[in-house]
Amino acid sequence: MPQRAATIIGGGIGGLAAAIALHRRGWRVEVLERATEFTEIGAGISLWPNALHALEMLGLADAVRALGAVEATGGVRDRRGRWLSRTDNAELARRFGHPLVVLHRADLLRVLTEALPADSLRSGSEVTVVRDDDHSLVVEHRGGASRPDLVVGADGLRSAVRRALWPDAAGPRYAGYTAWRMVTEPLAEPPAEGAATWGRGERFGYTALPGGRMYCFATASLPAGTASSSSEYAELLRRFGSWPAPVPALLAAVPADAVLRHDLYDLPPLPSFVRGRVALLGDAAHAMTPNLGQGACQALEDAVTLAHCLDGTPDVAAALRSYDLLRRPRTQAITRRSARLGAVGQLSWPPAVLLRDTAARLTPMWATLRSMTPVLSWTAPGDPVTATESESN
Ligand SMILES: Cc1cc2nc3c(=O)[nH]c(=O)nc-3n(C[C@H](O)[C@H](O)[C@H](O)COP(=O)(O)OP(=O)(O)OC[C@H]3O[C@@H](n4cnc5c(N)ncnc54)[C@H](O)[C@@H]3O)c2cc1C
Repeated sequence: MPQRAATIIGGGIGGLAAAIALHRRGWRVEVLERATEFTEIGAGISLWPNALHALEMLGLADAVRALGAVEATGGVRDRRGRWLSRTDNAELARRFGHPLVVLHRADLLRVLTEALPADSLRSGSEVTVVRDDDHSLVVEHRGGASRPDLVVGADGLRSAVRRALWPDAAGPRYAGYTAWRMVTEPLAEPPAEGAATWGRGERFGYTALPGGRMYCFATASLPAGTASSSSEYAELLRRFGSWPAPVPALLAAVPADAVLRHDLYDLPPLPSFVRGRVALLGDAAHAMTPNLGQGACQALEDAVTLAHCLDGTPDVAAALRSYDLLRRPRTQAITRRSARLGAVGQLSWPPAVLLRDTAARLTPMWATLRSMTPVLSWTAPGDPVTATESESN
């Protein structure tokens, strides 16, 4: 088969992973990124065992693990700092083949960009038009136009590709709460384990990064677009400054200008992720709330699956239909599950909070891990290695 060309729109985690997966299977790839450089925001990211498995298929799991932190234990605490549930990373690795790894997003992006030929990465290339008729696939962008054999729309929550080719699809829907993210300066004595603390309509979580830094995240139920009355840092101090240790000490170690804030959205289910020779991938296809820490993990799975489906067949449209069948049910189920978990985490009515916390306290770790099996025990298509709970029990 002559070498085929793929244009990937969007150079985030999903787009870069798709480019790597296709490049490794002999495709000529170009990644068109709107921003002037390929970079990620100043926050951490959790990569669960299923994402490590996808990275393994891309030949990048070791490089990513080397840049990440693997905490031994963690869990959920109540508003007074008492443990509601615990997780054990060694047990996670035993059941699902990999531990939970947390790293800085910029480090992950560097690993991904370095796995691609430099001339395939086109920053400052905002895509303005994508046209797909039977004989001609055209992508117009700031630097000119491309006529590839395949287009991958990996341009995120507010995807231009989705708007152009799925004109009837509903737009993103607000989850009802906003999120702050930040990374502390290196701490002399970082907390021994990470935790998410559940309050009433508010949550605060933290987890280790390499080098003594901590990645922190917080949520609060608010109408979309609500502006903080002061700086985001001052808002965090006001809301969380008196929460149980180590939250105040962590906030004290955050540079005041390093707090990121984003309202959280997910995407109503699309009837298909593909149209002809155009496929949506990552947040463009299935943006989800971050409650399960699965958005980027699912984008990595998408990338591996897409390349597998296209391998060895000249019929791109048929391969994309297989990709859609493999990816849509799974990602849409995880999106729904993440939204449900978020609704529980954001409960604010005191009797409901008491009930939630009691249920969490009474749930044993094995039951929590078992309930995560459908999400974490992903097997890449074509990969003979399976990491199912039944085998590891
Ligand atoms: C608070 C929060 C915490 C999260 N935590 C986790 C976590 O711990 N673990 C996890 O797995 N996931 C997490 N996620 C989700 C994760 O960040 C996303 O799912 C993931 O980054 C999606 O990657 P993507 O490549 O699909 O999209 P994006 O990262 O949005 O990338 C899209 C890219 O396309 C570019 N682009 C957009 N329009 C155009 C255009 N017209 N032309 C060219 N380029 C364009 C953008 O500039 C961008 O670079 C979290 C999300 C949030 C909001």
